Amino acid sequence: MTLKMQAAVVEQFGQPLVLQEWTIASPAAGQILVKTEACGVCHTDLHAARGDWPVKPTPPFIPGHEGIGRVAAVGAGVTNVKEGDRVGVPWLYSACGHCEHCLAAWETVCGSAQFGGYTKNGGFAQYILADPNYVARIPDGLAAKDAAPIICAGVTTYKGIKETKARPGEWIAISGAGGLGHLAIQYAKAMGLHVCAVDIDDGKLAHARLMGADAVVNAKTRGAEEAVKKITGGGAHGVLITAPSLAAFRQGVGMTRKRGTCVLAGLPPGDFPFPLFDVVLNCITVRGSLVGTRQDMAEALAFAAEGKVKADIELQPLSAINSVLHRLGRGDVAARVVLEFDSSH
Ligand code: NAD
Ligand code: ZN
Ligand code: ZN
Repeated sequence: MTLKMQAAVVEQFGQPLVLQEWTIASPAAGQILVKTEACGVCHTDLHAARGDWPVKPTPPFIPGHEGIGRVAAVGAGVTNVKEGDRVGVPWLYSACGHCEHCLAAWETVCGSAQFGGYTKNGGFAQYILADPNYVARIPDGLAAKDAAPIICAGVTTYKGIKETKARPGEWIAISGAGGLGHLAIQYAKAMGLHVCAVDIDDGKLAHARLMGADAVVNAKTRGAEEAVKKITGGGAHGVLITAPSLAAFRQGVGMTRKRGTCVLAGLPPGDFPFPLFDVVLNCITVRGSLVGTRQDMAEALAFAAEGKVKADIELQPLSAINSVLHRLGRGDVAARVVLEFDSSH
């Protein structure tokens, strides 16, 4: 008998996802099959479904890179993961393990990396095929729905904060207080930083306060950069831009302290006009950051398991995916939506 699963599929860029029955694949040698319990919905899934980026996935594909579940079956030769283990299938689906970047523990930039929910089918489905060498180990006591946002939004912001090189007692400005940003605020506080949250939505800024932000600035108000400079006494030592908006990038550089670092994590389509003069004269470092390595992942999950960081989640069924993506595009999701799967299947 061929077993079937429900999946939300991108058949055409810019069109609603289609709920379909797909055959559940058996794991090949070196692969595992994960039974999805929960999967977060990241703004990247929206970019993927729209075909926003220069390197595009190939439809039909299943998005989702915050999928958490139990290993249902293992392929031949798999020894490091066993049936019943709890794992997460992240954006960094796999890497080569041998190139200069993999050898330097920078597997996130491996030239042969595959991406979950993008170049490989992801977690908007009842089962996910995964590479056991790159799945996240979910600590005991951390529920699947709470772990889901950590394996992309959490690890990305935790790594991004580290990449700002801001030290305890210094200021970080977090631009974009949504799915990534609301976790970034909590990580930054747990790491001993002062946090100034920046967003265009007053509701998100009120939420940012609840998440622990010491100060908030509405990016739409005139003089927002100056406001951050005043609050931070000359600009934030670190700036992390998670906003999916080009306007936020220029502004984020303007919020950076002399000799500070502005980390770019948001991925709106397009190029941003680089304020060369400001960057050179103020000796600012501008740095890209992409998710996190497996070690970053373990650290990011440990913060959550220890209760220092907690995703604020709204649960929805897989069948609601199109309305969730629509709301995400309009900035209408308070923090993170997590798709919850029926465990009886
Ligand atoms: P989200 O929609 O949950 O949150 C975005 C937030 O940015 C919202 O609160 C919104 O109000 C705010 N915002 C919009 N325009 C702004 C502006 N001009 N200034 C300040 N804030 C603004 O999205 P998300 O899931 O947090 O993802 C954010 C971005 O990060 C997306 O582009 C996504 O693709 C990218 N991303 C990158 C990585 C990475 O590894 N670099 C990982 C995950 C997501
Ligand atoms: Zn993501
Ligand atoms: Zn590699």
